[in-house]
Amino acid sequence: MYSKFIKMLLPLPSFIEVSFPSDEEPNVFPVTVGAYSVPCPICQEKTIRHAQTLRRFRHGYAGHIGFIWIEMAIPRHRCVACDLTFTYDFGLGIVQASSAMFRKELVRRCLGRSIADVAREYELPYTTVER
Ligand SMILES: [Zn+2]
Repeated sequence: MYSKFIKMLLPLPSFIEVSFPSDEEPNVFPVTVGAYSVPCPICQEKTIRHAQTLRRFRHGYAGHIGFIWIEMAIPRHRCVACDLTFTYDFGLGIVQASSAMFRKELVRRCLGRSIADVAREYELPYTTVER
């Protein structure tokens, strides 16, 4: 139930499971990934996961709790046919430490307001918001 609520709040692909944050870090939601397969972006053949890195990125913002972070293992895949290796972010558009959804929300907030204003509200550096 709680997981469903979080999913409503933070749109994520359906094969991603959200867990409770810890007491120490109530803004960090660990997520795990169920079964999925990723075809090679070049030849469309099957790929295998050969490594993964645990990463945190901003995925949302709630006035009373601040940033909502997602912590998840981001895999590296290798194509069995052409040997291409690539990082797969499950379509979340992770760049540095934020997802595409977070950046879109930030842009929406900037409409009709100054960048400095939004940077203050989010406690982010001016240049980060500007980008
Ligand atoms: Zn390939």
